Amino acid sequence: MNPTTSSLDFQPRMHTPAADEFRGRAVLVTGAGSGIGRAVALDLARAGAEVILLGRTVRKLEGVHAEIAKLGAGVPEASIVPLDLERAVAADYEAVTEAIRTRYGRLDGLLHNAALLGVLTSIDQYDVPTFMRVMHVNVTAAFVLTQQLLPLLRASQDATVLFTSSGVGQRGRAYWGAYSVSKFAVEGLTQVLAHETEGSSPIRVNIIDPGRVRTAMRRQAYPSEAQESLPTAESLTGSYLALLGPASRGITGRRFEAQAPKAG
Ligand code: NDP
Repeated sequence: MNPTTSSLDFQPRMHTPAADEFRGRAVLVTGAGSGIGRAVALDLARAGAEVILLGRTVRKLEGVHAEIAKLGAGVPEASIVPLDLERAVAADYEAVTEAIRTRYGRLDGLLHNAALLGVLTSIDQYDVPTFMRVMHVNVTAAFVLTQQLLPLLRASQDATVLFTSSGVGQRGRAYWGAYSVSKFAVEGLTQVLAHETEGSSPIRVNIIDPGRVRTAMRRQAYPSEAQESLPTAESLTGSYLALLGPASRGITGRRFEAQAPKAG
């Protein structure tokens, strides 16, 4: 991939979405019921997107659906797609694809946000079934969902796929086990898909590392950390919207950080 000079200047974290930036765009968010997925889904809706909320806990998805409905007139109604990425089989993926095809006829954006942390322990001690679960949800399910949805992404004039990485997705760290390995794999999946789609389709494929964010997953990883010291998911959505929408036209195969590096 050869990013152009203008694409090298692109800084998603500086992006402030316009009111109707996503008008007429159908965007699917995995893990939309909580954390970063919820915050991005709400801001996509505020920017006019038809948001497809995918997740495993229907109660949480219904909560986000209701929050979107309360945003007021002019905000398109969201749809809910219950899918447990750990247990889903081929027929479930086909049903999801069919539901999206019937309602929207295409897909303009796909955010792979759902993930499992697993356990933090040494490779020595890592429980094999947990390793497999984490790899399945974080990597295999993202691959299968993407593969299933590619025809609908190709039906869009201007489609985006955004994967989610982590600081441990490029540099391994002791005790981060399957989570770190899975994020390396997702970085690879992004590069392969970006290379395959570049030049041959209007689909662009990028990856974002949100950095430290105040969510349940972060609490699980760092239980004694002061929550107030962490940025909220709501403060980082600009980067996501830039990469999921028209602002990132021409940008593919790139990795972005949602937060500015710390000084010093
Ligand atoms: P959360 O734990 O708050 O959210 C994770 C989401 O994934 C939840 O909505 C969860 O659903 C969903 N999910 C988990 N397992 C499944 C499954 N089997 N099927 C469907 N959905 C599932 O974490 P964050 O918001 O922090 O994480 C979002 C992304 O950001 C992840 O990819 C994470 O790796 C990444 N990230 C986060 C960082 C942070 O500091 N928070 C740092 C670096 C990366 P449910 O609510 O039902 O459990």
